Amino acid sequence: MSEAREIPGWTHVYSGKVRDLYRPADGADDRMLVVASDRVSAFDHVLSPGIPGKGALLTELSLWWFEQLAGADGGDPIANHLTGQAVPDEVAGRAMIVRSLEMLPIECVVRGYLTGSGWLEYRDSGTVCGIALPPGLQDGDRLPEPIYTPAYKAPLGEHDENISFERSVELVGPERAAQLRAASLSIYARAAASAESRGLILADTKFEFGVGDDGVLRLADEVLTSDSSRYWDLAAWRSGTTPKERMASFDKQIVRDWLSANWDRQGTPPELPAEIIDRTVARYRELLERMTA
Ligand code: ATP
Ligand code: MG
Repeated sequence: MSEAREIPGWTHVYSGKVRDLYRPADGADDRMLVVASDRVSAFDHVLSPGIPGKGALLTELSLWWFEQLAGADGGDPIANHLTGQAVPDEVAGRAMIVRSLEMLPIECVVRGYLTGSGWLEYRDSGTVCGIALPPGLQDGDRLPEPIYTPAYKAPLGEHDENISFERSVELVGPERAAQLRAASLSIYARAAASAESRGLILADTKFEFGVGDDGVLRLADEVLTSDSSRYWDLAAWRSGTTPKERMASFDKQIVRDWLSANWDRQGTPPELPAEIIDRTVARYRELLERMTA
C-alpha cells in the first residue's frame, strides 16, 4: 500500500482507506487538502495492488459533478466544500483543497435500483433497510421510487451500520435529518436524470455532508464517483437477461465480484490480478468520458 507522501506547506494528518488528508503547515484549520490515492477498498479492506490512475479519474469525476450540482447543469446550486484553490503540483489532478467541515456522522445513501446488500435483505425479508418494497422484485430491478437508506458513519476503523430514518433523527436532530434526506433524494434524482441522458444508470450512491463555521450545510467528500456509486450501462440493463448482463458495472463491483469468487473473507484478501485492475481502470475511464463528454 502506498504511503501518504510529504507535500511542502502541508502536514499529513490522516489517511482513510482511499484518501490522504493534510492540514496547512502554518496551523490554519479552515482548510484541508484531500488527496485521492490509487488505493482500492472492498468489504472494508484496502486491497493490493492499487489501481493506477484511479485517484485522478475519481477526482476529475467528483469535480465535474460538484460543478454540475453548483448550477452548471441549470439546476439550483448545491453548496459544496470546494474552495477552488489550486492544489500543490505534487498532487496535481488528484486532490482538492476543501473547507474543513464538521462532518455529519451519516452516510446518506440513495437507492433507485435493487442490488448488493439491499437485494440480499429484500430476498430475506421483503425490505431494504427496513423499508417495505413490493413483492417480486429481482436483483437489478428499478425501485418504484428512489429510497433514502442512511448509514451511521462509524468512527475510525469500525464498520458503517445501516440505520432507520428515526435513528438518524436521534443522531443529528429532526431538522438536519429531514434536510439530509431531502437534499440526498433531490441530488440523486438530478444526477440520475443526467446519467440517463448519457445512456447510464445511476443505480445507487452515497453522499456525505458537513457544516461549516457559517452554519451552511455543504455537500462534501467525493460525489457520484465510481467508488461511492453504482453505475450501469442503460442499454445492457434493458437488453440483458441475467443479473450479470443487466448490471454492466462502471464501478467497484468488478473488484467485489472477483473478490467474492476468490476469497472467503477470512484473513488477508488475495492480490488483485492484472486483468481485473485493467478492466476496472478502463471502465472508470469510460464512465468519466461518457459523463463529461
Ligand atoms: P474512514 O475515514 O473510516 O477511513 P473512508 O475510508 O471513507 O473512511 P476516505 O474516504 O479515504 O475515508 O477519507 C476521506 C475522509 O475525509 C472521510 O472520513 C470523510 O468523511 C472526510 N471528509 C471529506 N470531506 C471533508 C471535509 N470537507 N471536511 C472534513 N472532513 C471531510
Ligand atoms: Mg470515503
